[in-house]
Amino acid sequence: PARTRFAPSPTGLLHIGSLRTALYNYLLAKSTGGSFLLRLEDTDQNRLVPGAEKNIYESLSWCGIHYDEGPGVNDEKNGPFRQSDRTEIYQRYTNKLLDSGHAYRCFCTKERLDGLRESAQKLQPPTTASYDRQCSHLSEEQVRVKLDQKVPFTIRLKSPEKYPPFEDLLHGKLDMQPQINLNDRRYDDPILVKSDALPTYHFANVVDDHLMDITHVVRGEEWLPSTPKHIALYHAFGWNPPQFIHIPLLTSATDKKLSKRKGDADVMALRTKGVLPEALVNFSVLFGWSPPREEAAKNHECFSLPDLVRLFNLNNLTKGNAKVDEKKLWFFNKHYLTMRLHVPEQLDEMAHELLESMQSLYPSVTVLQIKRALELVGSSLNTPNELATEFPYLFSKPQYERNQYVREFIQKQDLYQIKTLLQKMEGKMSTENSVLAVIESLSKDTGIRKNVIFEAARFALTGSVPGVKLPLLIDFLGADEANSRIVEALD
Ligand code: GLU
Repeated sequence: PARTRFAPSPTGLLHIGSLRTALYNYLLAKSTGGSFLLRLEDTDQNRLVPGAEKNIYESLSWCGIHYDEGPGVNDEKNGPFRQSDRTEIYQRYTNKLLDSGHAYRCFCTKERLDGLRESAQKLQPPTTASYDRQCSHLSEEQVRVKLDQKVPFTIRLKSPEKYPPFEDLLHGKLDMQPQINLNDRRYDDPILVKSDALPTYHFANVVDDHLMDITHVVRGEEWLPSTPKHIALYHAFGWNPPQFIHIPLLTSATDKKLSKRKGDADVMALRTKGVLPEALVNFSVLFGWSPPREEAAKNHECFSLPDLVRLFNLNNLTKGNAKVDEKKLWFFNKHYLTMRLHVPEQLDEMAHELLESMQSLYPSVTVLQIKRALELVGSSLNTPNELATEFPYLFSKPQYERNQYVREFIQKQDLYQIKTLLQKMEGKMSTENSVLAVIESLSKDTGIRKNVIFEAARFALTGSVPGVKLPLLIDFLGADEANSRIVEALD
């Protein structure tokens, strides 16, 4: 069984790229009967964004991704799960590395380090490893004096001569070294503890993954260059590193489109737009993972979370960006929306969720009305929100005078004739049969084609032509409302 974790930094709203990372970790854990953890990497205090932590919880829970251990959840054994609550733990492990000589204190000033960095860039070839390791040569006595003088310091890892190659389950064997210049030897020596005594991402991440018994790390490719440093740290401690799986960045056309307008690709914003969680999960999982071919063909790639748990397999991760179209999100949304219509509790839930926004447009609308409207037209919607915008006439009287169609319709037809027809319908349209019967007999009496009569009635009731079947519509509105609209249209 795999023990995996999602380790976001609460520095912004949860984006679908991060959702996908969470999802793969979750699916790997669940598909192997293991555990999924949530850890908040909040050691970079300057980058914290208020509300971001809450947004992470809300987004995950809305998508149905529940963690077995995390902040406030089963945290007795391996917690706390917020890194800012683990400072003492990091101190203990810093001391171990200082004692074993794998780490050292660096008292260099910012000016000196800036100078070193600048000169490293000027070297031919330039080098990304810029530190000259001056402080690693300080004697114990020199260190003590500086500590007594309260000179600020960081703690650095004494990086190995050469970082060992490592295995990534998706990319295979990788040998990644910082660029060095052999004539003017500089070192990478990553900082583990900053001068504010807080650990860096690298240090806290490795210590925590080890202490939390993480077996697999699934994360974005942007962390690939950090991985040799992490592995060097595991070795310095004498620990076995977990398995690494670096997934491709979301750079497909779809994502660009989704994120073009600011905020569009964050999970909660998509929720506000009417995206359903099942659709979003289904959509995100396909960026970099594909189901077994026969399964995909069978279901048009529609997979619920339990389906995904059953089917997920690391072997089906893809290295390149999967070309998933934004249109596909709407396709999934429609699919899941239609499915929800058939599940009474879900229909009920949808109606309740719509109530507030619907009431802002139609103050007297009720949950029951919304539910009935969803049953009536739900399967033609892309999002539940469209109910209000696409079918306004279900909730309020049509605005005939402002309606382009009505004007055209009236121009085309004999106004007198329409009025006569509507007058004859008045008070008679209550049930499906009576509607059809009324129209039938009107057609017989007047010799006007039935579809013209239908159109006239539809215009009176909705202000537009296509849409819900007339008898169903009258049934929905109720005979009183239907008749009052006919009377109004006659004015
Ligand atoms: N805190 C890192 C992030 O925000 C986690 C990277 C990792 O999974 O190791 O993406």
